[in-house]
Amino acid sequence: MKKFFTISIFPQLIEGLKETGIIKQAIKKGLISIENINPRDFTTDKHKTVDDVVYGGGPGMLLKPEPIFKAYESILEKGYKPYVLITEPWGRRFNQEFAKELSKKDEILIICGRYEGVDERVKTIVDEEVSIGDFILSGGEPAAVVIIDAVSRLVPGVVGDEDSLKVDSFSDNLLGYPNYTRPAEYKNMKVPEILLSGHHELIKKWRRWKQLEKTYKKRPDLLEKTNLSKEDLKMLEFIKKGKTFEDIYKKGT
Ligand code: SAH
Repeated sequence: MKKFFTISIFPQLIEGLKETGIIKQAIKKGLISIENINPRDFTTDKHKTVDDVVYGGGPGMLLKPEPIFKAYESILEKGYKPYVLITEPWGRRFNQEFAKELSKKDEILIICGRYEGVDERVKTIVDEEVSIGDFILSGGEPAAVVIIDAVSRLVPGVVGDEDSLKVDSFSDNLLGYPNYTRPAEYKNMKVPEILLSGHHELIKKWRRWKQLEKTYKKRPDLLEKTNLSKEDLKMLEFIKKGKTFEDIYKKGT
C-alpha cells in the first residue's frame, strides 16, 4: 500500500480528492491511503496560531516552524519514513517523469505552504521542492492534489485497465491519439472511417500517426526525448511534408 501524507492547515481541499472516482476506489481497495496532518493540532497557544510575521519586515505572514516540525515528527513516531516534498513555485517542475519516480516510493509526504510560504528552517526535513507550473497559487494544496492524483494512477491496480496507462499522453513522451465514441455520426461530423473498419493493424498505424502528428504540432520538444522506430521516423517525415495518413496508407494497404 502506498501512503500519502500531507501537512496542511486546509485539509478540506484534499478531502475532495479522497471522495472521488478512481482515487476513492483505490483507497477502498487498500491500494493507497491519504492522510492529512494539520499543524494546527500541534499548536500550544489558545488561538492555535500557525503563522507569524516575517523577520526583517515585509508583507504577509509565514507558516511557523514548530507546528510543521511537530506534525512531521508525529508521522515518524508512527514508524513511517516518508520521502518529503514541499510545494514551492520555484521547485522542480512536476511532470510524468517525476510522477513515475514518486510512484516508486512507499511513503510520500507533501508539505503545503500558505501565506508567503514556510519558515526556511523547515527545508532541513525536505528532500525536494516541487512546483506544478510558473504561476502563484494561494497554497500548496491544489499542487498536492495534482501530485497525489498523478502518482496514484501509476500504482498497480489503481487504474482498472492498465492498458489505458500505456496510451495516456506522455507515457512514452508522445501525446495521445484522438478518440471517438457512439454515435458514428453527429451533427454531420463523422467518426474517421478507419476506426469503423475493424482493420486492427491499420487502426494501430493510424493512431500512431495521429500521436506523432499531434506531438509534432503541439509539443515538438517531446520528440527529442522519444524512442522512435524506423516506421515512426518514416511517418514523421511524411507528416513534416504535410502528407495525411490517407495519402500514404489508404490506397496501398
Ligand atoms: N511568496 C511566494 C509565493 C507564496 S504562494 C513567492 O513569491 O514565491 C503560497 C504557497 O503556495 C507557497 O508557499 C507554495 O507552497 C504554494 N504554491 C504557490 N504556487 C505554487 C506552484 N506553482 N506550485 C506549487 N506550489 C505553489
